[in-house]
Amino acid sequence: MALVSMNEFLPKAKANKFAVGQFNMNNLEFAQAIVEAAMEEKSPFIYGVSEGALKYMGIEFTVAIAEAAAKKSGLPIALHLDHGSSFEVAMKCIRAGFSSVMFDGSHYSFEENIRLTKEVVKAARAMGVSVEGELGTIGGVEDDISVDESDANLAKPEEAIRFYEETGVDCLAIAVGTAHGMYAGEPNIRFDIIEEVSKAIPVPVVLHGGSGVPDEMIKKSILAGVGKINVNTENQVACTETIRQVLAKDAKVYDPRKYLTPAREAMKAVVREKIQLFGSSNQA
Ligand SMILES: [Zn+2]
Repeated sequence: MALVSMNEFLPKAKANKFAVGQFNMNNLEFAQAIVEAAMEEKSPFIYGVSEGALKYMGIEFTVAIAEAAAKKSGLPIALHLDHGSSFEVAMKCIRAGFSSVMFDGSHYSFEENIRLTKEVVKAARAMGVSVEGELGTIGGVEDDISVDESDANLAKPEEAIRFYEETGVDCLAIAVGTAHGMYAGEPNIRFDIIEEVSKAIPVPVVLHGGSGVPDEMIKKSILAGVGKINVNTENQVACTETIRQVLAKDAKVYDPRKYLTPAREAMKAVVREKIQLFGSSNQA
């Protein structure tokens, strides 16, 4: 199967109240762990690729890995630019074979965010590529993007609804109290904002910073209208902790496969658990 846009599965997710996971790809082992977990769960999923990850892997390798996963698995997989910062980078990804892009104009003024997002939607739609927009500022650190918690702004429901109506995005990330990275305590998620926005627009709300959010809160957010949840940090932690353990146990290890194999298994377990929690098993 070829890579698909998020519209292959997001409308069904919204209608049937489940969420599709965006699992970020940081290297080959991440990509393999994610697709293997999804194959066992028969679940659609989204490979998220940040601009930092794109620089690290190279755009050709990124697309080739995702295409190989789609072909091998037969699953509906979207290859999605995460937090795209400009029209140009979004177009570069689409030209290279991405089936979905996020344009994050949340650091612009509301009107400018609408104007820029509209341009991306217009160009992407012509090529069958789905678009995620962002409103409000999600706190925490992700790659080169760092937002102080005190600068993180919750989305205003009436603005989110107008943003959807004017841009026609395929899903909408709104700041509702989650943050990128790991949480020190429990996040304070504004389910009322999710619900108000989700009821008024036909596309799902996206929850960024899904790592470390308690399971009950995830379930509640899906019921409120979240149809896409982003997970990256938990896989990074599982990968690195496993490698650290293997190396600490045996200082003579030099073959990368000796620590990457268990690291991949650890990430696969994380992804399987998330897919089950999100309710997207058997939805491929
Ligand atoms: Zn994010």
